[in-house]
Amino acid sequence: MGKKTKVGKTRKDKFYQLAKETGFRSRAAFKLIQLNRKFGFLQQSQVCIDLCAAPGGWMQVAKQNMPVSSIVIGVDLFPIRPIAGCIGLVEDITTEKCRQSLTKELQSWKVDVVLHDGAPNVGRNWLYDAYQQICLTLNALKLGTHFLRGGGWFVTKVFRSKDYNALLWVLKQLFKKVHATKPSASRKESAEIFVVCQGYLAPDRIDPRLLDAKYVFEELDLEGKQKNSLLHPEKQKRIKAEGYTEQDIALRNDLAASEFMQAENALAALQGIGSIRIDDERIAKHKRTTSEILECCKDLKVLGRKDIKGLLLWWKHIKQELFQSEAEGVIEEPEAEQPAEPLTQDQIEDMEDAELQQQIESLATEEQKELKRKRKKTLKSKAKLHEKMNLNMVIKGDDGPVEETEHEIFDLKGINSVSELDAMLDVQPDFDVDGDAVETPKLPKYKKYDKDDKRMDDDANYENDDEPEVSAEEDSDSDYEQQGLGLSDNEDEDQPETKGKQKKKQRGEHPLIKSGDFRDKDTRRQQRVALWYEKDNLQNIGNEADDDEENYDLDNLAKAYKAKGVAVLGENRPALADYDAGGGTLALGKKAKRRARHDTQKEDSSSESSDSDSEQEVDEDQVAGDIAKAPKAKKVRLSEEELALGALLVRGKKTRRELIDAAWNRYAFNDENLPVWFEQDEAEHMTKPQPVPKELTEEYQRKVQELNVRPIKKVMEAKARKKRRATKRLAKAKKMAEKIMENADATSQEKAKQLKKVYKKAQEKKKEITYVVAKKHTASRRARRPAGVKGRYRVVDPREKKDKRSIVAKKRREKGSKGAKGGKGKGNKRK
Ligand code: SAM
Repeated sequence: MGKKTKVGKTRKDKFYQLAKETGFRSRAAFKLIQLNRKFGFLQQSQVCIDLCAAPGGWMQVAKQNMPVSSIVIGVDLFPIRPIAGCIGLVEDITTEKCRQSLTKELQSWKVDVVLHDGAPNVGRNWLYDAYQQICLTLNALKLGTHFLRGGGWFVTKVFRSKDYNALLWVLKQLFKKVHATKPSASRKESAEIFVVCQGYLAPDRIDPRLLDAKYVFEELDLEGKQKNSLLHPEKQKRIKAEGYTEQDIALRNDLAASEFMQAENALAALQGIGSIRIDDERIAKHKRTTSEILECCKDLKVLGRKDIKGLLLWWKHIKQELFQSEAEGVIEEPEAEQPAEPLTQDQIEDMEDAELQQQIESLATEEQKELKRKRKKTLKSKAKLHEKMNLNMVIKGDDGPVEETEHEIFDLKGINSVSELDAMLDVQPDFDVDGDAVETPKLPKYKKYDKDDKRMDDDANYENDDEPEVSAEEDSDSDYEQQGLGLSDNEDEDQPETKGKQKKKQRGEHPLIKSGDFRDKDTRRQQRVALWYEKDNLQNIGNEADDDEENYDLDNLAKAYKAKGVAVLGENRPALADYDAGGGTLALGKKAKRRARHDTQKEDSSSESSDSDSEQEVDEDQVAGDIAKAPKAKKVRLSEEELALGALLVRGKKTRRELIDAAWNRYAFNDENLPVWFEQDEAEHMTKPQPVPKELTEEYQRKVQELNVRPIKKVMEAKARKKRRATKRLAKAKKMAEKIMENADATSQEKAKQLKKVYKKAQEKKKEITYVVAKKHTASRRARRPAGVKGRYRVVDPREKKDKRSIVAKKRREKGSKGAKGGKGKGNKRK
């Protein structure tokens, strides 16, 4: 036991983990688990034979890892623990009977994997055991070859001895691949190694010598190896009885007791001895020389372990008492011999398993204890908190003071520019050494601005140089600054630097972080420009060069609409404008295109000129199309036919002349003072149809139809206005934010609060107000929120509401009457 090395802590933990994972607790099982994890032979197999399977760890692992419908047959000299779904046979794998039993079980099935973990139960000495084991392996292989299918697996344990390589050679003759491996579950000190043979070649005939130990392995010289076997006579029985050699009989048949007592090693002295002859009186008369001892001395070959131990004890005492001087050297106690007693592989494994089991159990209890401790701790802290809450010592949600990094005096995170760094380095105290307040230079009350020297800001105000200047461009630039794309390198060196620019420059370069950008100035600039234009909000902007913001917004909106497939008002004008009345067809010539472009520009400029054009102008724009020159003040609603006629009159001299000529026809009379009914009749039935080409009328018809679905310019304008206002608001907010940040008096917390407020205001939508009519019973002095009203509300006088209502109704009525009139008119016309 003392020889055994303890499993290291990490290994122990590993096995504990493995035991937890798999539920197995024996080292043998761990070995197969690890082998299978490496090669995965069990998952691929349907039929398995486990040779030398008792007590059944490997069988269990095999069953667990193989498919549900798999067959596992175990064979061992000893009965195997019953395992669900497995067959256990008690056979000696080296015998023919075992092969027959297996054939009976398997019928015609072929086996996918043969496992072998055999260890002969001898334990005479290591060499002998190793030889026996390797012979057993060869036997297992022989048996396996009877049942293995082509491509099957053979997994075996081998002791590395001088015959190990010979076995490997045999395996390599029969399998495609042979892997020798030692799983971590196998003790390092142990000579065992596992050989996993993959892909059985299934030859038609195997040379019997290949599977014969006599041919494959070197003969084991067991001479002299029997020396220590006296202590294991029962095991010795297994060894084929060879009898006494002649030499044994002739020379060392018996040993004189005095000689035996003087021997340095009692056990060694007894090797090969048949009996002990009592040649000394003192020994014969000694109280320790019992009749039993005398009997044992007669025939040593038949003695059991107990008898030998008795002989050794007798030798010890007699030697000490009678042969003291001679026995001064090494006295080997029979007890001392015990540890030298060789243990079988099984015994070693059993002991290890027991130790492992103990370790696993201790770890499990330790873990449970730890869990218990933790649970107890949390329960305790919970109870404490409850108590505190009950005593109102703690308020829910109040976490107490929180450490704020913002307040750190030398927070380098806040430094982004040289000036900021300088400011930190040259901090002036609020009070000088003498305790007097430091005077800050007073700013002049008024400041003269030279408007030619300044730029206009968004609000049409001249920019204040004292205020920090942050444009959208600069902002965006600073975004890219970190990527080395900022616009603040020394590229403007040649130009005279203004104060503002210098500021920008200082802001751009981080004084503490040096960029590792190796690109040259030009490439950097080009990449910056390209990146700037890639920004999302610039994607939709077509031409920013346009000075007029509104026009630019409208253009973009129009483009967006066009991109969506919606035609924009006034875009297709050239088609009509270029109507060639003489030919009677619609054609777009170069001239016409030019004219159309000219017209569009004209219209654009007119639309830019005023936001508040009258509705009449819009109507004109919608209907008039080509006849844009029509008087603006006059409201004319023309039918499609009339529009076409107008176009003919205006566009070509020839068409106009033809039209005038056509007016003189047989339907034309110049009679006066006719009765009204007659005139009405005449108008209805004596009218020459207008000489307007059908295509032109149809074109106008189509245009009117389109107008109904096109986005109205007004809407577009309104949207643009909204957008512009939002941009303005944000720009303002930015300025405010800058001012707040500059304020040295405010703490960072105050600043953050103010900033939040400013940005909230900038993004704020107009809040909807619910108007609640005051009633007598609700009109109390103290205002109370009326039931069912959410959000902002205003209490209004009932008369106010009534008035408003009446105004709205009046407006609606007016509108309605107008519409009705129009409708009537139209109806009349149609009549
Ligand atoms: N693999 C097994 C497990 O996981 O439980 C442990 C096997 S144990 C290390 C070795 C086994 O080989 C012993 O049970 C022993 O009985 C068996 N054995 C040794 N010689 C044998 C033989 N000739 N025929 C059958 N079994 C044999």
